[in-house]
Amino acid sequence: MLDIKITKTAAPKAKPADESKLGFGKVFTDHMFIMDYNAGQGWHDPRIVPYGPLSLDPSAVVFHYAQECFEGMKAYRTAENKIQLFRPECNARRMNNTHERLCIPQLPEEDFVQAVKAIVEVEKDWVPHSEGASLYIRPYTIATMAQLGVHASTSYKFIIICSPSGAYYAAGLAPIDIYVEDTYVRACPGGTGFTKCGGNYAVSLLAGQKAEKKGYSQVLWLDSQERKYVEEVGAMNIFFKIGGKLYTAAAEDRDGTVLPGVTRRSIIELLRDWGYEVIEGKLAIDDIMKASREGKLEEVFGSGTAAVVSPVKKLDYEDQSAFINDGEIGPLTQKLYDTMTGMQWGKLPDTKGWIVPVCKG
Ligand SMILES: *Cc1c(COP(=O)(O)O)cnc(C)c1O
Repeated sequence: MLDIKITKTAAPKAKPADESKLGFGKVFTDHMFIMDYNAGQGWHDPRIVPYGPLSLDPSAVVFHYAQECFEGMKAYRTAENKIQLFRPECNARRMNNTHERLCIPQLPEEDFVQAVKAIVEVEKDWVPHSEGASLYIRPYTIATMAQLGVHASTSYKFIIICSPSGAYYAAGLAPIDIYVEDTYVRACPGGTGFTKCGGNYAVSLLAGQKAEKKGYSQVLWLDSQERKYVEEVGAMNIFFKIGGKLYTAAAEDRDGTVLPGVTRRSIIELLRDWGYEVIEGKLAIDDIMKASREGKLEEVFGSGTAAVVSPVKKLDYEDQSAFINDGEIGPLTQKLYDTMTGMQWGKLPDTKGWIVPVCKG
């Protein structure tokens, strides 16, 4: 158990008046959680303090060698005015897997969950009230040691900031167009694709800009070796329904090129409960285009905490296009969205034990 010292701000900010204008990750709450690490003391001094700038040495390892990582999760307000989390222990475990890959010391998973609950409870009035809006939670770890040698830092900060964020789909679940990227890659076998380290996102920006200029909302990443097998879409996992079966790239395999999404794992569990066959493995983009030509590509959707599911209506690969379900949301995509969001916002019973209560709202 962490002994968290809480210092409340003397100057609380006004809460956003119009939740429909929140957008994503632009407004921050009044407080943040911080805990320090050094070799002698381990993780220590857990505290909640007023939100504000950090002071770091300009030579801190994080600025030069990107020894840092993050997580992304949400707190939801139910109709009964309870504040709750979705599978936070999965984020804690994934954060530690990332820490291990980046030579950052392990953070006890129960401490991670306790810290998230504590900051959410302090900021409970910031959890939005409107349908589909939530408090986005961003835990992250940075290497703070002042040195330019390429070595793991011996000091770190673990921080949690919170951002009230609007409904991802302001105008309902809207299917998107996707550009299959055949030049740039996101991750390679043996690299850091399975981690939420900042470097993975820095290397994805150029392909994202290229796709955006061409009028697409997301990039579909292919494998780095052959540019042949589908991996992820933007910062989401991706599923294909072909001839009644569901396919998604393997995560947690030896290559480690795919981020093991909490949403991905949850969707796979639901699909299997509902009797669907889910294949986690290699799926060639050529086979997807072929399935489309044969009328067997039934549904395509991305999955992630921000959007929950993101239906895809068109895939463009080189000179070929695959049009999916006449541009409509597939029935299974819709059912997954309704089931996941139903549990998260407390409209459906938590039959899977995925909901972790925080406090009364
Ligand atoms: C965060 C992330 C996901 C989705 O993970 P969730 O735990 O479902 O939010 C998928 N792919 C990438 C690259 C990500 O960064």
